[in-house]
This record gives sequence, structure tokens and C-alpha cells, in this order.
Amino acid sequence: MKAASALLMFAWILGSSARAETNRPFSIEVSEASSTVRLLVINYDPVLKKHGRVLLSDFFKWNNPRPMATNLVRYIKESSGGFANYQIVDWVDVNAWPQKRDGFRYDEESFLAMWKDKKKAHMPDGVSYAAIFKELNLPERIRKENIGEVWIWGAPYFGMDEYAMKIPGDQIFYPTDNPWFYRPYDIPDCGRTIWAMGFNYEREEDNALHSYGHRCEGILSLTVGRGIWNGAAGETNAWSHFTRQADKFPDDAQAGNVHGGPNAKSGYDYGQTNIVFSGADDWFNYPNLKGEKKPVNCDTWGKPHHLNFMRWWLNHLPKSAGISEGFYNNWWRYVADYDEAVKALPPPGGRLHKAKTAMY
Ligand SMILES: [Zn+2]
Repeated sequence: MKAASALLMFAWILGSSARAETNRPFSIEVSEASSTVRLLVINYDPVLKKHGRVLLSDFFKWNNPRPMATNLVRYIKESSGGFANYQIVDWVDVNAWPQKRDGFRYDEESFLAMWKDKKKAHMPDGVSYAAIFKELNLPERIRKENIGEVWIWGAPYFGMDEYAMKIPGDQIFYPTDNPWFYRPYDIPDCGRTIWAMGFNYEREEDNALHSYGHRCEGILSLTVGRGIWNGAAGETNAWSHFTRQADKFPDDAQAGNVHGGPNAKSGYDYGQTNIVFSGADDWFNYPNLKGEKKPVNCDTWGKPHHLNFMRWWLNHLPKSAGISEGFYNNWWRYVADYDEAVKALPPPGGRLHKAKTAMY
């Protein structure tokens, strides 16, 4: 998978899992408020003119992103206790090839040749968000239609990152040395924070929810974590604490992270049967953690393990009312309502400055 850029790398590493048991209930903690996110969905799916005008996704019998998007909206709403309420304002099908940052575009011939021989993949792979925004008139639509987020579906090698986001002026509150937290690329400044999720319809919805989980990791590192997300001993911010795994903290496993639960022994180890004692459920009590631990393994979230682990993990993000140490107890405010959250409650000790370490 070396040919794939870092951009869709994580989605590539993961295999797809069967869609089953997706109606498995996860506890819904009703939070004090909800936030409606007006969402624009863009689906890049070119027409193959030399193959009977079939769509690229149909040609390869890839997945239909529509039911996946519907399910993602539901999973996110459920996991956030009803807080993150995505409303699909419009669905834009684009029967064209997205332009890369260096101006390159695949066409039918070059894409199909590359698919047969991945050594022919164009590098650098990264898509031009600026071109997408311009071609689809997004800055104006964002302003006029009060859109806060864009989901961009596409094929492998289209070059979207799992998530990208642009904060006006690239102004973040805490310095960080991790470039993956803040990923503006060449998204134009739209006067408000804009998320651009990159989803791959070759893969299933578990990978898209996985990408959404990374976005939570990124923005929580930039807020509650004060620029730090560190699994090392001694790091005590609530966000880092939340992500502890038994592997590094045998006596203090919590919820883990997107790449593995409390009992994971390696990355992507979502089907791990080994039982560990985890404080994950204690985060439903946040900020009043009681220190209680319960036995947890892959049966705790159930099959399909990857999808249901993601739902379980997202569901454990704190979401109660109130404020602790200068941050909202409901971390979903930062995930789904960032501008309002940091305007109403400026992160404590934060000093706005242009992000130096970021994915530009
Ligand atoms: Zn990942």
C-alpha cells in the first residue's frame, strides 16, 4: 500500500467488514443541548465514456455512498447523545475527476491504467480542496446556506484526506508539534470553521466512521488536550487520560483510541478477545469520575467489530452539561460546534496564533 499516499492510508490498511448488527443499541445519554450541523455532501463519481457511460463506482461494483451517509448521520447522532445532529442540506453528484494540488487530473484511461498497476499512481496524491471549493462554488454556498461541513465521497487515489478542516486565519489556541491535528491544506478561508471529511466509497461505512473518529481525536487534542495527546505516563489532561489502553497502562485502561480499544494489543485490533478492566463507562460520569472499572473485550461492542467499536468509542466521549477546568464537559461541542464553543468559552490559557505545525 506504499503507493497510496498518507492521505487515505489508514482507510487502506483496514479491511472492510460485513454489515451486520448495525442496529445494536448503544446507550444514549441525553445531553443538555443539541447542535444542528448543516451538511453538504459531494460525491465524485466520474462517467466512463469509453465503457458505455457507466459510473466509475458501478464499473468496479463499489458501494453506494447514499445509504452509508444516512447511516453515518445516525451513528454520529446516537453516539453523541443526540447532540450532533447532521442535516444533509444538499447532495451534489459530480461526474468528473477531482483535480490534484499540482493540477493533475486522472481521466478514464490514466485511472484504469493506474488501477491495474499502482506504480502508475500520480504523486503527490493530494487533492486540491481549493479547486473543489472553486468549481462547486462552495465558499458562497457555505455563506449563503449556513453550511458548516462538507463530506466528499470519492474513489481511492482521489487524494482526499480522511479529514481536513479550515479555521479562519488558521488560528489555533495551543501550540502543538503534531501536524496531524490541524489539516487545512488549501481549503479557502470561508470566514468560519469548515470541516471537509474525505470518504472512500470503495470501502464500507466503518472506515468512514473511523475517519470521523480521527477528526474527534484531532480537535480534542487542539482543545481539551491543549495541543497535547500523549499516551505517556505523567500526561494527565482529561483527553489523554480518556484514551489510555491496558497495553501501556495495565492498571488504568480507559476507552482507548480510534486505532484500538482498551484491550488492543496492536493497531486495528478491534476483535481482541483478551479481557481487561477498563474505566470507559466511568466517562459517562465525567467530570465526576469514580474510578470504577469493568471487564471489557470485543464482545463489549460486538460484531462487526470495527464499526461497532467506533460507535462504542464515540459514544463514550464525555457529553454531560457544565464546565470543568475551563472546558465544556460535553466534548461534542468541540467536535460538532467548534466555532460557537470556543467563542462562548475561550479555551483556558490559550493564545490564538497561526498554526505552525499543520498539514498545509
Ligand atoms: Zn486510522
